[in-house]
Amino acid sequence: MFDLIVRGANLPDGRTDIDIAVAGGRIVALGPHLPGAGRREIDARGRLVTPPFVDSHFHMDATLSVGRPRVNESGTLLEGIAIWAEQKPLLTVDDVRERALAFCRWAIARGSLAIRTHVDVCDDRLTAVDALLDVRRVMAPYIDIQIVAFPQDGFLRSPNARANLLRALDRGVDVVGGIPHFERTMSDGATSVRELCEIAEARGLRVDMHCDETDDPNSRHVETLAAETVRLGLQGRVTGSHLTSMHSMDNYYASKLIALMREAELHAVANPLINITLQGRHDTYPKRRGMTRVRELAAAGVNVSYGHDCVMDPWYSLGSHDMLEVAHMAVHVGQLTGRSEMRSAFAGVTTNGAATLGLTDYGLDVGKSADMVVLQATDPIEAIRLRAHRLSVIRRGAVIAESPPVALHLSLGETSALVDFGATHGPIGERQTVAS
Ligand SMILES: [Zn+2]
Repeated sequence: MFDLIVRGANLPDGRTDIDIAVAGGRIVALGPHLPGAGRREIDARGRLVTPPFVDSHFHMDATLSVGRPRVNESGTLLEGIAIWAEQKPLLTVDDVRERALAFCRWAIARGSLAIRTHVDVCDDRLTAVDALLDVRRVMAPYIDIQIVAFPQDGFLRSPNARANLLRALDRGVDVVGGIPHFERTMSDGATSVRELCEIAEARGLRVDMHCDETDDPNSRHVETLAAETVRLGLQGRVTGSHLTSMHSMDNYYASKLIALMREAELHAVANPLINITLQGRHDTYPKRRGMTRVRELAAAGVNVSYGHDCVMDPWYSLGSHDMLEVAHMAVHVGQLTGRSEMRSAFAGVTTNGAATLGLTDYGLDVGKSADMVVLQATDPIEAIRLRAHRLSVIRRGAVIAESPPVALHLSLGETSALVDFGATHGPIGERQTVAS
């Protein structure tokens, strides 16, 4: 007797009618028509069952604080940073913790069970650090939280940032962050990248920097980040987040840079909801999109994943932590509308995110923790199209969120129908034979 069997699932890799058996919180068997019974069985026939959504880039210390102490009227990155600076002295551990916990409940209900959050360390009290370390501990049974020590006001530019960042790492923060484009000079930016990578190397930690989050094509700190990664032997452990300047770079330079990023095994994180709203703000027309070169990076073999970045904070007043909304926006902003490109956008909020975070216990394979989400969609493309409803969210074999399928009763005169927006025309993609 298994603890749980999910029956008849469609998997993101295209396999259909797969049963997934769970015991002791782990996947113990996976295949078509498994014998045996489960104490609980979920009928997932025709539904997509996916490993959980992974958010590669978020800010839990600022989430759900929109309007405090004022709203961002210009909508710019820099006004958002100024508002956050006004809010920072007012933060308390309880306030940050309660907002972050409320946010985690939203994320879990949406099937996001792994999140890398940055935490601002430019507050001498380390209020947000203490709050998020507590949230990581309290929520550990339900969601994997990685915390990045993020010197929001600049590692060199802010007088106590270095000491505070080291104190945050001493307290158990997981990853070394940075913001080289916000330092006072290009050369300070490069120095900050070097010194932060050295801290990570000395402590055996990963690196994830806000890097070149600007429309300036000459903001090239990702080059230094990749070069330092190679110099210090950190391949596969370093992430460049945002990388929006790459959108505006000279094509020849970008082609050389992308090869270096591949050699450094750098992970690239794009934040499409935020990039499309914050970038290009100094442009009149034409107005740049600003998202990094997802298609070219992926084609070169660079792992690209996506982040939500913000939910209801000084930079973005919308959102409910739906990673399918993120993938949907990535498809639009990056013009990733080919069938395989849309599937790769789904990977960007699932498996590629797990690779960025370095999660090893992730995926629908025998022996892995039984973490998965049943969606009201047949495949990854339909999941993105509908930003599909989450039917079951499963963590370590236990159903921690569930909902009946969504459908609308439609009454049109004499006829009535149930509408769920699911496809009615059969599979797309293979050449259809037209009957004569
Ligand atoms: Zn960010």
